Amino acid sequence: MRHCLACITLALILYCVGARGQSTSPPPAPLTVIRAGTLIDGVSEAPRKNQLIFVRGKRVEKVADGSAAIPSGSHVIDLSNATVLPGLIDAHTHIFLWGEDPNKGGYDANILKAGIALRAARATYAARRALEQGFTTLRDLETEGAGFGDIEIKQAIEEGTIPGPRIFGATRAISTTGGYNLEDYAPELEMPKGAQLVDGPVEARKAARQQLEHGADWIKVYMTHRSWVDKQGNLVSQPTLTVEELKAIVDETHGWQKKVACHAYNGIGLQRALDGGCDSIEHGLEISDAQIAQMQRQGTWYCPTISAYYGDWAQADTPAGKRDRARAAVHEISFKKAIEARLKIVFGTDMGGIPWTEPIAQEFARMKSLGMAPMDAIQSATSRAAEMLDMKGEIGVIAAGAYAEVIAVPGDPLKDIGELGNVRFVMHDGAVFRNEITK
Ligand SMILES: [Zn+2]
Repeated sequence: MRHCLACITLALILYCVGARGQSTSPPPAPLTVIRAGTLIDGVSEAPRKNQLIFVRGKRVEKVADGSAAIPSGSHVIDLSNATVLPGLIDAHTHIFLWGEDPNKGGYDANILKAGIALRAARATYAARRALEQGFTTLRDLETEGAGFGDIEIKQAIEEGTIPGPRIFGATRAISTTGGYNLEDYAPELEMPKGAQLVDGPVEARKAARQQLEHGADWIKVYMTHRSWVDKQGNLVSQPTLTVEELKAIVDETHGWQKKVACHAYNGIGLQRALDGGCDSIEHGLEISDAQIAQMQRQGTWYCPTISAYYGDWAQADTPAGKRDRARAAVHEISFKKAIEARLKIVFGTDMGGIPWTEPIAQEFARMKSLGMAPMDAIQSATSRAAEMLDMKGEIGVIAAGAYAEVIAVPGDPLKDIGELGNVRFVMHDGAVFRNEITK
């Protein structure tokens, strides 16, 4: 009898579950329609007037002409007096870095004076700052001694605990002995380092494996470290990893279907970065014509981070001051050559090295002043960066099927690129984070 009762109970449960299963194809998410006065969609070469962006859930359902019918009951956001763009992508940031101002202890204070909770709080602030300014995606290229904290901040954002952009994290980054801070302390002191230091291909591969195991979306490698001006007045950079060491990292990382970003200023280190198969060159201050050609052949991405080399120069008559000026001088030439050669350029700032209180969009003005057309600069921070991140069609574009990453500025950024520093509306993954345009 008891056996039979159990059967009946089980049958009833199964019936109920089945019945519920049949009746609960979930209702469609509510529809939001954004009326865009001007739409720069991230891919098209020209803006379009009076467009409607239909957003359902986290995604764009379709984009239609302004005359299309809006279903009754939809939530309408009127941005008809604004320019609407895809959420921006900064492809080179450090949310865990809190400036490098010598008057505030420089780089070293980040590691020596701030505990992990303070650093996490600052990274939380940085993530929010980025989103407020319309940067809905960051490629965050190293935590500067804060371990795997970027992946945990990313987790906190994804679970909705804190606001922030979509993050592609690189965790600890890799360099060699003598190839990263902290340095210049008494040799008998065992100082913490801002990156994971390796020597030899075996250690290099192991470091990549450890970082990938703990969630790195990209691997960041330092291919140059110190730089100075030699007797002939040339900028020289100390190379770090050998080609064999880098190849071990690239081989391992590509096996995980991930990519390798290489910090490389110029000279031997930059050449090794290209010969070793780096996917993106970070900074690339001085790129020779042969290296430009090699980047074209290999399809290497170029993330120039111009702004970072124009702030806080040391005094002109000091070695550091000469170095700072030489860096900016050669960088300009390289960037112009890269535009000419149609290299794949992505927007990146090195925020964190630049204080997070400063505007991220300052890089747009730098790019334009060195000859980049405003639409190209916008695409470098939208569809081009998305392609580098293997997110083509999903972010960096406003089109059917993409994530609903939508921002708006009051003016016309094609006339005044500075408008991109004036973001007044931010939608991230279909949710409005900021709206100071419509009340
Ligand atoms: Zn950096």
